[in-house]
Amino acid sequence: MAYPGSSRSVSSAPHAPWRIPDPWSAPDPWPAPEPWFTPDPWFLQPPYAWAGYPVEHPLTFPVVDAWRHVPHAWRQAPAHAGGPERITERPPRAHHIDWHARYPNDIILHGPTDRKAIALTFDDGPDDVWTPQILRILAQYQVKATFFCVGQRVQQSPRVLQQIYREGHVVGNHSWSHPNLTRLSPAEVRAEVERTSDEIQRLLGVRPYLFRPPYGALSDEVIREVVAMGYKIVFWNVDSLDWAGLTGPQVAANVLAHAGPGAIVLMHSAGGTGEGREPTVQSLPYIIVTLRRFGYTFVTVPELTGIPAYQPQAPG
Ligand SMILES: [Zn+2]
Repeated sequence: MAYPGSSRSVSSAPHAPWRIPDPWSAPDPWPAPEPWFTPDPWFLQPPYAWAGYPVEHPLTFPVVDAWRHVPHAWRQAPAHAGGPERITERPPRAHHIDWHARYPNDIILHGPTDRKAIALTFDDGPDDVWTPQILRILAQYQVKATFFCVGQRVQQSPRVLQQIYREGHVVGNHSWSHPNLTRLSPAEVRAEVERTSDEIQRLLGVRPYLFRPPYGALSDEVIREVVAMGYKIVFWNVDSLDWAGLTGPQVAANVLAHAGPGAIVLMHSAGGTGEGREPTVQSLPYIIVTLRRFGYTFVTVPELTGIPAYQPQAPG
């Protein structure tokens, strides 16, 4: 069967089935698009188009497309030691609630619920491809957010980290190599956290106070170590599931269906090895515009919770 306007036919090549090109293994430069390729912006598709939502994301296309032309070497952020974000590493939500109940002063799930304020948080960056796109959208919509950064990626993309900070966002600690901390010794946990803060402090002159464990995985031992080092553990109460291979509309639906006053929303500003963040980039303008229409403002986690962003500076 041939698609309209296409010289290709799906059934004519049974031994070499056509596949969606994988941007992570594709040769550089990225091959020109097939002549029959027409991008379909998600917000022009049902159910958004059916629902009569206005089209007001002119940014989405140029930005999402631009990354294809970035040289291949720049696209690779260091791999997570514990592998990409995935369901098998993540404790059930009930564990987060339980840990918060047992350590109410050390573990944050959300902010006060009496004000229509929401904190967007972005994990796993910085990188040179996706984080700049997130930053561009946040700047366009004048939203301040909180970035939980991975130390080895800070080391690789220091200028993007400095851009995050310079543009008024808050930088938190998300470990050095993104392992599952519950599988490490106490000394290794301390090294993961402190090495990251050292690198951030070297680049920004401030030392993070907020820590988010990779995969949201904690144990009593890890909590003890992190709290003893003087950090506040920040979870979330709305998971965009942008790490789970969803489309842009699905990511937007997850956030919009669950966000409420005081929400801390989990999103990602960089992928694991071989992962893109197009759904996050595509959904973000829609999430911001929609929640603003419902009267929400966007704040950082420190603004939402009253918790300081950074450790007190050592005198002298
Ligand atoms: Zn992470």
